[in-house]
Amino acid sequence: MQASNRISTLLSGGSDGWEVFNRARQMMAEGTDVTELTIGEHDIRTAAPVLQDMHRAAMGGHTGYASIPGIPTLRDAIAARVTARTGVPTTRENVMITPGGQSALFASHMAVLDHGDTALYIDPYYATYPGTLRGASAKPVAIKARASDAFQPRAQDIAPYAAGAKSLLINSPNNPTGVVYSRETLEGIADVCKEHDLWLISDEVYDTQIWEGAHISPRALEGMAERTLVVGSMSKSHAMTGSRIGWVVAPEPIIEHLVNLATHTTYGVPGFIQEAALFALEQGEAFEAEIAEPFRRRRGLAYDILAAQNVVGVVPNAGAMYMMLDVSATGLSGEGFANALLDTHQIAVMPGESFGSAAAGHIRVAMTVDDTAFEAALNALCSFAQTLATKEK
Ligand code: PLP
Repeated sequence: MQASNRISTLLSGGSDGWEVFNRARQMMAEGTDVTELTIGEHDIRTAAPVLQDMHRAAMGGHTGYASIPGIPTLRDAIAARVTARTGVPTTRENVMITPGGQSALFASHMAVLDHGDTALYIDPYYATYPGTLRGASAKPVAIKARASDAFQPRAQDIAPYAAGAKSLLINSPNNPTGVVYSRETLEGIADVCKEHDLWLISDEVYDTQIWEGAHISPRALEGMAERTLVVGSMSKSHAMTGSRIGWVVAPEPIIEHLVNLATHTTYGVPGFIQEAALFALEQGEAFEAEIAEPFRRRRGLAYDILAAQNVVGVVPNAGAMYMMLDVSATGLSGEGFANALLDTHQIAVMPGESFGSAAAGHIRVAMTVDDTAFEAALNALCSFAQTLATKEK
């Protein structure tokens, strides 16, 4: 018996860049003390009051099938939040609750693409993007952002691929680079989308992690609300990764499509999780800032350490819980450096190559361990790079 190709082809084949991560996990299982700077998960857990509200909701009986597009109160809260932050009038009819941002990404592409349609995305990219697009039966096409542009994508690099394509997926604040797209970048992207009639899928799951400047949602740009699907999530903003709660904000007909898809796939999100998500959102911006604060602080620590040396380059990260570092002066690839760092110093980082070829020669550092361990790891990383670069000369 043969299992489906549909699932096997989600993976691109060959190295998927997760070897360093898997090796680190194996070393930890065998008792080695590894400093884990790989995946984007907070070092804190979901706040106790949010869990207490989840418990209250479950004990109160919200354990049956929940409304498939989401409970009206949560949809209203998200619509109000989006309206307040972007100025785009948004109602519950524009909001679909999903089991996390990943599910929202998949559902968004299912809602706008047909089999074999070309779906564009930007390299470097969040690791699941190409598989998500293949899962939606699309033909994924990556467009490189340049390290020399601090990974702000250029509209003129996207335009040649846009003719005949159906959608473009972007992510700002960006994982893996930490780059926040400027207004100029987003306006260029919006123009390409309008000119070539592309759907824009805007992954904004890091919108509360802004260290410099401001987050701009491209849905707020002129003529974009009718062609943009915004992916949101409580995973990063409220430290609720395990609760699997996210959303899509989109034109009403797309939401109706998504409801039909969810009826035949997820059948919605548990009511007690949705109630806890509403409670968490009601805690307002101060609570979101509190959750983002450790990353802001560690970014400051990292910049101080990086400023005192000249081997490791830093991609200026204005947001998100990651730093993208250029280690090419060591003579190693990102993957080579990450492997050597793990073996020599038991520090695990992601090779830039796991996020596409545009990030070759880089590593991604997640700022997800306590300040002392983070500082120690960054110092060790920099002196290791220094040693390698000296040998290289
Ligand atoms: N989008 C980006 C850019 C991410 O980094 C992640 C998770 O790391 C997701 C989407 C999915 O988040 P979740 O499914 O936990 O909401």
